Amino acid sequence: MTTTIPPCPQCGILNTYPDGDFFICADCGHEWLTQQSSQTNDDSESIIKDANGNILSDGDSVVIIKDLKVKGSSITLKVGTKIKSIRLVGGDHEVDCKTDAGQFMLKACFLRKA
Ligand SMILES: [Zn+2]
Repeated sequence: MTTTIPPCPQCGILNTYPDGDFFICADCGHEWLTQQSSQTNDDSESIIKDANGNILSDGDSVVIIKDLKVKGSSITLKVGTKIKSIRLVGGDHEVDCKTDAGQFMLKACFLRKA
């Protein structure tokens, strides 16, 4: 296992070695705590964003930003259509919404928070 050893913050010399949670500089004897800065807070919970990058949540109202043909029907959801109370679901089409024309699953990238 190779750890990247930082230069001593005190004297700047790279003659340092790790010792447990600490780094120790052999030249000036400075000790400092290893920083575990690589703690990635990767929220596995998926965040669904609209076309503008705003985070969508259940119950939001959205506006369609692009004419959307509904698969398997002759219905086209027109740009500018407002949809109230969306419901977020997992998967490819993240937004479950009810419109006057029926209930559809839409991609969040075609929606804008109203
Ligand atoms: Zn030093």
